[in-house]
Amino acid sequence: MRAMVLESGSPAGPGRLIPREIPEPVPGPGEIRLKVLACGVCRTDLHLVSGDLEPGKPDLVPGHQAVGRVDAVGPGAEGFRVGDTAGATWLYLTCGRCIYCVTGRENLCDRIRFTGMHADGGYAEAMVIPATHAVPLPEGLSAPDTAPLLCAGVIGYRSLKLSGVLPGQILGLFGFGASAHITLQIALRMGCRICVFSRDDAHRRHALSLGAAWAGRLEDNPPEPLHGAITFAPSGRVAVEALRKLRKGGTVAVNAVHMDTLPAFPYSSLYQERCIRSVANITREDIREFMALAAAGPFRVKINPFPLAEANIALARMLASDFQGAAVLLIPGAA
Ligand SMILES: [Zn+2]
Ligand SMILES: [Zn+2]
Repeated sequence: MRAMVLESGSPAGPGRLIPREIPEPVPGPGEIRLKVLACGVCRTDLHLVSGDLEPGKPDLVPGHQAVGRVDAVGPGAEGFRVGDTAGATWLYLTCGRCIYCVTGRENLCDRIRFTGMHADGGYAEAMVIPATHAVPLPEGLSAPDTAPLLCAGVIGYRSLKLSGVLPGQILGLFGFGASAHITLQIALRMGCRICVFSRDDAHRRHALSLGAAWAGRLEDNPPEPLHGAITFAPSGRVAVEALRKLRKGGTVAVNAVHMDTLPAFPYSSLYQERCIRSVANITREDIREFMALAAAGPFRVKINPFPLAEANIALARMLASDFQGAAVLLIPGAA
């Protein structure tokens, strides 16, 4: 099968993935195989090819927001049959036994493994995932529209929960890419007013067109202080700026798997029970809750399609903030 492979030892950068013909994976016990229809491109993939994150295996196939058709079911794999539609998320496997797993925080599992990081992902014609962590999807959905929900959407939903923002309050979104443009729509449904901070004029216009109450640059002050904020840019400076714009008791949720150093800031920015916290991974409960929201009323997901072979171009354009919304790889021959 065709796959885009991050070869060990290759020079870091967004041109790093090599198109290769590799053996089709065979599902082992408890696993299912997906014929991938579409796979979203995530900033985490950019961190992998850029060398910010170390791949968890040699010759890795990235991709952790894949929609596919089940075409093989391994021994003992439950819940899926050949022909079903299913999704793969960042959450490849959790142990179910550690203190985090048994207290509803499997996103922090001591033995957690990630799709497209420790196991091959969806930048390929097929992939294998544990049935326990695969997402059942309804028949007849649009695979390209659904793929970005599986990371950008779910992690945005978790970030919104961790921001502590309540219905009717003011939420700040810092950076406006794939995840933020879905998160904005969830928050709108909660009756929140949303202020978007982006250095990119086209991103600000996109935010306003989706219903943001205000859009400005990072250094601008919003019309009112924020009850909570989510930062999407992998920049410590942005997180500290967000903190400065909070009301008393507000939280900045940092939605980034990798970030540069947090600059020093005065304690007064943090005092009054303001909080800055990271958002790490997702739980299956997050996925279920978020997919139920998506089923209740579809989100307007802005898709930028690329053929699988152009994964490097998609990553380079993401690095350059060269499109609005989400990049999605379409797998040739998938139907
Ligand atoms: Zn992701
Ligand atoms: Zn665990």
